[in-house]
Amino acid sequence: MRPDILFPLFAPVTSLPGIGPRLRSLFDRLVGSETDAGPRAKVADLLWHRPSGLIDRRFTPKVAEAPEGSIATLTVHVDRHLKPHNPRQPYRVLCHDETGAIHLVFFHAKGDYLEKLLPAGESRVISGRVERFRDQVQMTHPDHVVRPEELASLATIEPVYPLTTGLTPKVLGKALRGALERAPSLPEWLDPALLKREGWSPWRATLQALHAPTTEDDLLPTTQARRRLAYDELLANQLALGLVRAHQRRLPGRRLAGDGSLRAKAKAALPYTLTGSQSSALADIEADMAADSRMVRLLQGDVGSGKTIVACLAMLNAVEDGFQAALMAPTEILARQHHKSIAPLAEAAGVRLALLTGREKGKARDEILAGLADGTTPMVVGTHALFQEDVEFSNLALAVIDEQHRFGVHQRLGLAAKGADGRTGIDILVTTATPIPRTLMLCAYGDMDVSKLTEKPPGRQPIDTRVMPLERLDDVVAGVQRQIDRGAQIFWVCPLVEESEVSDLAAATERGADLAARFGAGMVGLVHGRQKGSEKDAVMARFTSGDLRVLVATTVIEVGVDVPAATIMVIEHAERFGLAQLHQLRGRIGRGDKPSTCILLYAEPLGETARARLSIMRETEDGFRIAEEDLRLRGAGELLGTRQSGLPEFRVANLAEHGDLLHLARDDSRRVLDEDPDLTSERGQRLRTLLYLFERDAAVRLLRSG
Ligand code: ADP
Ligand code: MG
Repeated sequence: MRPDILFPLFAPVTSLPGIGPRLRSLFDRLVGSETDAGPRAKVADLLWHRPSGLIDRRFTPKVAEAPEGSIATLTVHVDRHLKPHNPRQPYRVLCHDETGAIHLVFFHAKGDYLEKLLPAGESRVISGRVERFRDQVQMTHPDHVVRPEELASLATIEPVYPLTTGLTPKVLGKALRGALERAPSLPEWLDPALLKREGWSPWRATLQALHAPTTEDDLLPTTQARRRLAYDELLANQLALGLVRAHQRRLPGRRLAGDGSLRAKAKAALPYTLTGSQSSALADIEADMAADSRMVRLLQGDVGSGKTIVACLAMLNAVEDGFQAALMAPTEILARQHHKSIAPLAEAAGVRLALLTGREKGKARDEILAGLADGTTPMVVGTHALFQEDVEFSNLALAVIDEQHRFGVHQRLGLAAKGADGRTGIDILVTTATPIPRTLMLCAYGDMDVSKLTEKPPGRQPIDTRVMPLERLDDVVAGVQRQIDRGAQIFWVCPLVEESEVSDLAAATERGADLAARFGAGMVGLVHGRQKGSEKDAVMARFTSGDLRVLVATTVIEVGVDVPAATIMVIEHAERFGLAQLHQLRGRIGRGDKPSTCILLYAEPLGETARARLSIMRETEDGFRIAEEDLRLRGAGELLGTRQSGLPEFRVANLAEHGDLLHLARDDSRRVLDEDPDLTSERGQRLRTLLYLFERDAAVRLLRSG
């Protein structure tokens, strides 16, 4: 259970003074962490909300000396209020000091409020940006108005925070101060030697320093405050993964080694031979399965590198030895696709293969469940529907999880429990299509062994990637028309509209209608996230068969979609996509033996990072290189498009900047868990607090004793 000392931090933001239900939604949007009911902001979430800039309010010139455009703190005498004659005019408050007059300007102002704030005849300290309008010095909406005796509290350096529409710096500032006051002094969980070497302060003091920058340098990721807090977070991450790893390996595995008979039949049915990296990945997997410990392995390979066949052969290995094997995909489309590609091999091997998704219902579902329960169906492909309560296996020994970044450690944990006899753990093979940079590997999959598919199957043609401004849309449409005439098939990816599935859909629907008008209605199909599974399938099937020539899609265009005949992809507003996403999307083409073209359409103005992303896409198809560049660019700040990536999101740590700390944290965590695997020592107990602080509750639950 979460220690009492952390309770105030896990209360909703509404527990802070001045935050009611109306403001709550703004805080949810700004700092909320994902929950089943949407983003929710807790007090702790505010602590991690870092300043992005500073305002120096120590500049206290006289009115006549205050340079235009500067932020100044002025002590003035309030003369009179000039109320507007009509609501479009601003409300003015005329003030002066001994050097000159200044007008305070307020739009949509409430007079009563201003008369209280700035009573005529009294002095006030105002702070804000100095403007000049028709020779008149003025200040529009001063950031602060206080009494002269409060000057000292105002004339300081003020942190500036990222905001959201509707939330003022004042309200946020107050909430932050409240949150910082609530932050308890926590028992130190870091190694004293490390603290000393790095010169780090205790947690609470560090947090306060994070929120009290005095120079621009204090905003950098390299400050001691930022590094300490980043280290805490990375250590929590590494400990959690270490605990998962230990837990997964606690149950003994079983030795699985088939006689090769089914694999031989399946291989004989393949129209190709395995690549070198497919063979060596398979050798890794077979060795793991044969060992008496459990397999927990990640099979990493770019889109189209041929992971499915490797997974299928591993499954057959289990079946040869008399056990069952399951493959779980993140979406229904993908499950169906995997089923389709595995079915011929299962058939060649003479093995019964079932498909189980949320759509199999009633009698059909009962039959599938019966086959799994009595063992007459040794192989099954499905979605998470596979691991619902009522699905029983007779003797499941291997689960392949096609992760594609959509499951997380939690789901992996859920699976770990599904051993058939309750005494031995099943072997787990996770496959992922996004090549992951080395550092990220460590914090996303630090609990797993890794095999990589580094070569593409032979005979693939390189993809010609072009980057063009959206103004050339007409040329692109004309080019597509010519390709259609020559028999080509095209993916047309519509822009990602930020934060709105509805506008995504609108954009895609509109483009679909445009293109249908242009190319002929029978030629163009549309898939999007709001379609029912069966509708989506029908469209996909028509595209796969070649009946539809253009498939217009929002990004729901599933990452595993395999239509080798499609040779062209157009991506609108490519600048809005992250690198990983662009790479995934582009992986849909270049799968057959014909040359393919990818057209990335962008809108001006193109930010520096977006430009860099597009040119990397033009330069290379190497997923591992793209992944490294992605991390480098994201370190630079522009985060759009990475949210959905499913990689761990850190609150304070930035992997591009804190890579050294990650390695330290890994070593630290290993040492700790070797000596104190259940975190029962004094430091162990403190580290539990750290795990709760970063919401690694699931990992704490794996500990054997309280
Ligand atoms: P991934 O799951 O890694 O994206 P797939 O397993 O779907 O890739 O394979 C992509 C395509 O490559 C499939 O059509 C598959 O039949 C083909 N393929 C797989 N391995 C080979 C190989 N060794 N030689 C030729 N083609 C292959
Ligand atoms: Mg084993």
